[in-house]
Amino acid sequence: MYKGYVMNIGLEVHVELKTQSKIFCSCPTLYGAEPNTHVCPVCMAMPGALPVLNKKAVEYALMAGIALDCEINLECKMDRKNYFYPDLPKAYQISQYDVPLCKKGFLDIETESGNKRIRINRIHLEEDAGKLIHNEKEETLIDCNRCGVPLIEIVTEPDMESREEADLFLNKLRTVLLNLGISDCRMNEGSFRVDVNLSVRKQDNFELGTRTEMKNLNSFAFIQKAIEYEFKRQVDSITENKPIEQETRRYDEKSRKTFSMRKKEDADDYRYFPDPDLVKIKLERDYVESIRKNLPELASKRKPQMMAKYELSSYDCEMLLTDMELAALFEKAAEYTKSYKSLSNLIISKKDSVLGILPEKLATIANMSYKELINAMTARKLIDMLLEKDFDIEKEVEEKQMGQINDEKILAEYARQALEMNKKAIESYKKGNFQAIGPIIGQVMKLTRGYGNPEKINDIVVKCLNDIS
Ligand code: ADP
Ligand code: MG
Ligand code: ZN
Repeated sequence: MYKGYVMNIGLEVHVELKTQSKIFCSCPTLYGAEPNTHVCPVCMAMPGALPVLNKKAVEYALMAGIALDCEINLECKMDRKNYFYPDLPKAYQISQYDVPLCKKGFLDIETESGNKRIRINRIHLEEDAGKLIHNEKEETLIDCNRCGVPLIEIVTEPDMESREEADLFLNKLRTVLLNLGISDCRMNEGSFRVDVNLSVRKQDNFELGTRTEMKNLNSFAFIQKAIEYEFKRQVDSITENKPIEQETRRYDEKSRKTFSMRKKEDADDYRYFPDPDLVKIKLERDYVESIRKNLPELASKRKPQMMAKYELSSYDCEMLLTDMELAALFEKAAEYTKSYKSLSNLIISKKDSVLGILPEKLATIANMSYKELINAMTARKLIDMLLEKDFDIEKEVEEKQMGQINDEKILAEYARQALEMNKKAIESYKKGNFQAIGPIIGQVMKLTRGYGNPEKINDIVVKCLNDIS
């Protein structure tokens, strides 16, 4: 019954910029500090305190605009958006209303049916609000550390027509922003926040339906689920002849449903006006061009070349290229080994910690993995050990007997012992519960002290089980 209906999705993405200080004062932007320690009269909105625009925030916003092929407004201004909410001590947010810094850009995504262009309507600069903390005592506390952290809001046209397209867009956008080095884009820390606008229409009707907006979805998985739920809800509603109301809805992770929060407010409700405490933003064309010239290289440019040179999959390259430091480390280490796939697996699986390791050492570990001298678990363990202190990897593996156990006779003996200990799992497996194999394999791995060859163990256990039944 959902056939014949199409969804249209427009996204509003809030991205915290990685400047040292806030957008209108010199307070630090560091995440996770003691509440209300990174505040001053300006970001606490004391009467008479005056804001001064952070040049770096403008530069970062311009970098995003240029990377997303936007037109840049050489003259724009900051506006006050008036509303009351406890996380906003000023009772207005300094944002941009009718003239954003950047407009009319695009980002191309690679869908299964080819390239698709997602148009960017605008990118504007604004300040973040504080954070409300709801504690167990059912009290609400206010942390103003986030007040005045610089944000850009990236608004797309409603060009995405499935959750896959929304996912592709968001992942690619995130990679671009990470490549530019202008944001951490950590969804769990709120530095990359997504509002999803969604409407449905009959396939042959090109007029867009009425949209609802789902605010502050904080993981890619929730976004996918929220889109799926909301699409069905709207189609159900239309087929029951109940018109969709334009409203803001909240996605509830527990029930996996969306609930109405409030009917849509109008721009008029915010009483926007130019902030009288700030001067206009006037940009020299040369300044914008110098930012364009010095823009860091983007993953989308490097990917095809990387795939060809190292014979890696599109996915592997994308993972490496989300962080240019990781990509650079990969390329350095690749000078010392030809085991590119093992090297890439290793780097992707140890992302955060791998940056502290010398490229030669990584190459050695990748080589040993490729030659099956160590298993993947040991490879990761060696990285953790190297972070503690440096050592000769081959010698250490030899001395500590960390080499991979590939001998099928030994593994078969362990498998026999493990099966002996897991009679229940065997019964369950015989009844068709193939998951039951998990604990048996785990047991064999334990008997090898974690050094067994996982593929071989798997094959041997499967064979033993099939022999039994
Ligand atoms: P507002 O300022 O009221 O939030 P905008 O025109 O800026 O409204 O749109 C906000 C977002 O909603 C944009 O991402 C836009 O693409 C999206 N949008 C607008 N109309 C629709 C629609 N009919 N279906 C889906 N998304 C829509
Ligand atoms: Mg909006
Ligand atoms: Zn401050």
